[in-house]
Amino acid sequence: MEKRTTGRILRSLSGFYDVQTPDGMVTCRGRGSLRKNHQTPLTGDMVEITVEKGKGMVEKILPRRNRFVRPAVANVDALLVFASNVNPITEPFLIDRVAAIAGNQDVEVHICVNKCDLDAGTDLARIYRNAGFSVIQASAVTGEGVEELRKLLQGKLTAFTGNTGVGKSSMLNALCPELQLATGEVSQKLGRGRHTTRHVELYKIGEDTFVADTPGFSSFDTDQMDVILKENLQYTFPDFAPYLGKCQFHDCSHRAEPGCAVRAALDAGELEPTRYDSYLRLYEKASQIKDWETK
Ligand code: GDP
Ligand code: ZN
Repeated sequence: MEKRTTGRILRSLSGFYDVQTPDGMVTCRGRGSLRKNHQTPLTGDMVEITVEKGKGMVEKILPRRNRFVRPAVANVDALLVFASNVNPITEPFLIDRVAAIAGNQDVEVHICVNKCDLDAGTDLARIYRNAGFSVIQASAVTGEGVEELRKLLQGKLTAFTGNTGVGKSSMLNALCPELQLATGEVSQKLGRGRHTTRHVELYKIGEDTFVADTPGFSSFDTDQMDVILKENLQYTFPDFAPYLGKCQFHDCSHRAEPGCAVRAALDAGELEPTRYDSYLRLYEKASQIKDWETK
């Protein structure tokens, strides 16, 4: 007897998809018709499947809320950017870049300043709280902030990101000790970094609560799908929102134009200088995007 059900793809590997359904995990292949229509199931996808004699088949991919190319994951509700102010120190620009990409896809962004047992990361926490993000100061070692994080993740698919060694795997273990993920010395991990695959896996850490642990920032490179138009960049900075539409020129790029409300806010100390610097750097990058890349 064939059974039809829906579920979420937690892992995909060489044409096999592990789908979490109300009746448990089912390993599926993709129906040939999907390939014919150039539809590739992605980790995170909600899918309709049929199960016959224990064998699953992905029949249909339900509409996606969003989709990232690197890491390849769909239907992300939130991005948790890990940072730390000690071994390794996180550069604000890395956070701002990834936050802009996520914001451009309507994904909410939160910041976890980890390793607070070694350094509370006061400056990082201040910068991002002032910019309007929720910031959790935490330690995977002492457990500080872990329950607060759990609440933030509840009921969502959250992608973890952040430079190698900030403690993403350690925090995932702290949230869900059964996982027993390997964690590593920073130097070892950086050595391995270039060879790590782009394989993304979703970990279920609670009811309807999933975490995608992804390789470091380098793999969050912009790609055709993740391109931000320079005109849209301003909207991916939540801290700019109060000033938009108040500049002298309606098409102000907030770089050097007279009567710019964003620059006035910067001069008045209402905007964090590192945030504005990141905007300028990202604007420069966005200006280099060729028209064909956005098609
Ligand atoms: P990932 O690359 O982001 O997944 O980082 P890991 O979870 O592998 O952690 C890298 C190193 O930092 C490991 O040696 C961890 O034991 C250590 N580490 C992770 N979180 C913390 C923390 O909150 N405090 C301290 N002191 N060390 C941590
Ligand atoms: Zn302006």
